[in-house]
Amino acid sequence: MKLSERDIENIWHPLTQHRTAGPPLVIARAKGSSLFDEEGNEYIDGIASWYTAMYGHCNDTIVDAVTAQMKQLDQIVFTGFTHEPAVRLSEKLLGILPENQAKIFFNDNGSTSVEAAIKMALQFHHNKKDKRDTIIAFENGFHGDTFGAMSASGLSVYNGPFEDFFLKVKRIPVPMDHNEEEVIGLLKEIIENNACAAFVYEPLVQGAAGMKIFSAKGLEKLLQLCKEHGVLCIADEVMTGFGKTAKNFASEYIKTNPDIICLSKALTAGLVPMGITSCSLEVFDAFLDDDLAKGFFHAHTYSANPPACAAAIAGIDLLHSEEIQEGISAISKAHIAFAERIKNHKKVEDVRYLGVILAVDLKVETSRYGKLRDKLYDHFMKSGVYLRPLGNTIYVLPPYVIKPGQLDKIYQAILDSLELID
Ligand SMILES: *Cc1c(COP(=O)(O)O)cnc(C)c1O
Repeated sequence: MKLSERDIENIWHPLTQHRTAGPPLVIARAKGSSLFDEEGNEYIDGIASWYTAMYGHCNDTIVDAVTAQMKQLDQIVFTGFTHEPAVRLSEKLLGILPENQAKIFFNDNGSTSVEAAIKMALQFHHNKKDKRDTIIAFENGFHGDTFGAMSASGLSVYNGPFEDFFLKVKRIPVPMDHNEEEVIGLLKEIIENNACAAFVYEPLVQGAAGMKIFSAKGLEKLLQLCKEHGVLCIADEVMTGFGKTAKNFASEYIKTNPDIICLSKALTAGLVPMGITSCSLEVFDAFLDDDLAKGFFHAHTYSANPPACAAAIAGIDLLHSEEIQEGISAISKAHIAFAERIKNHKKVEDVRYLGVILAVDLKVETSRYGKLRDKLYDHFMKSGVYLRPLGNTIYVLPPYVIKPGQLDKIYQAILDSLELID
């Protein structure tokens, strides 16, 4: 039996309707910015495998660091024990995170980093005998698929069966230049009429919503308003973290620092899963008490898994290397030039970019999105380019090590795709 047939026999894939889905493509290996299928066909990974493998697939530096760590200490309970990779990683992270961040809490993926953040915020107020039950979040945000994270997510198309069980969440649109006053007014109203514990947001770019980029100035004002009313600000940097926006973190574009930050995805350079929830000293201190129950009783078995810490340390070192910084800058410049080139194309509704993120909205009716997505996806794969369009949005978020020729091939495939639209 072929591998894809054995897969169909045994596996339940994420985000897949198995009645209608075709057989999955078998990827045999990956290197740098390229994926190779069983037959040896090459696909340029235009989205760095959901923005994880930012330093390239099977990057030798990272593989070596993880291999060495695996031989030294593989896994250990992180309650009562500690280890050098965890300590070193926390020092490194606190050195680059916004300056108010003081403590690193480990979990094991993006959703649980948000889940822990929301629990921290709720217990923060609880410990202060200030009962607050409402979370504020953006429309169309995405924060993961566990219950707290799912409640905060505004992309609710597939959340129907669970909505009755969600946390209490109030939603606001993202601030743009044209609606800033309106959004601020709405937030004021929500804060006045509810006991708001926290505001969860993707800073500056809503990834799963189709790389929607919004106003830093507007976000700044929302965060200030939250701070004035004791609402904890939770920045979900799971997508934006580690150089995507041309800064280490998107929160650096805003003066007001978040109280809590969620990290994952590129944190471990695409090698092993890990999530982190960092917080300010003010948050941490609210859990200090002689009463055991005021502590944060949340744990994941693989918390601070040593090889994952080693991957993250090596990743941060690479991020700050000259080679990667030059890569980020070259991709950013190439995106700007490409955006200029296609912005007036009759099939292009909007094109936007920030750092290595580029998104193109196509001019098509909403009712046609479904079919169009499959058509585009097939076109890209046939062109040897792996891109995953979202609705009418094609986005590119390539590994920092992508070669100019590979990036040009992606741009050309996008240009060709514009001819497919009727
Ligand atoms: C991917 C993502 C998550 C969820 O991370 P998982 O590791 O898939 O659970 C949360 N927030 C944002 C912004 C993301 O992009």
